[in-house]
Amino acid sequence: MALWITDECINCDVCESECPNQAISMGPQIYRIDPDRCTECVGHFDQPQCVQLCPVDCIPVHPQHVESREQLWERYLRLQDGRAATAEPADAAERGAD
Ligand code: SF4
Ligand code: SF4
Repeated sequence: MALWITDECINCDVCESECPNQAISMGPQIYRIDPDRCTECVGHFDQPQCVQLCPVDCIPVHPQHVESREQLWERYLRLQDGRAATAEPADAAERGAD
């Protein structure tokens, strides 16, 4: 985990739809970030979109889980591979339907 949402979150719902990795979701009380999906927006944007948009500035870097740009880039590539893998059967089905 590199970024996390603190309990200052006001559940404004702005960040969830802006995350390019679908890493943000509603938790039991406040929104949360899935550490296995957050790349700090590496691969998509120059700056973390959630941090840019959050009106109460409650998405800091977790001091005990600082990740290098290389680690974040590798996660981005892994997530892209996952998307490609899940897209293939659908593409094949579409071709078969033609
Ligand atoms: S930094 Fe980017 S990838 Fe990570 S949770 Fe925020 S919007 Fe999503
Ligand atoms: S933008 Fe900030 S305050 Fe709004 S839901 Fe996301 S983390 Fe919470």
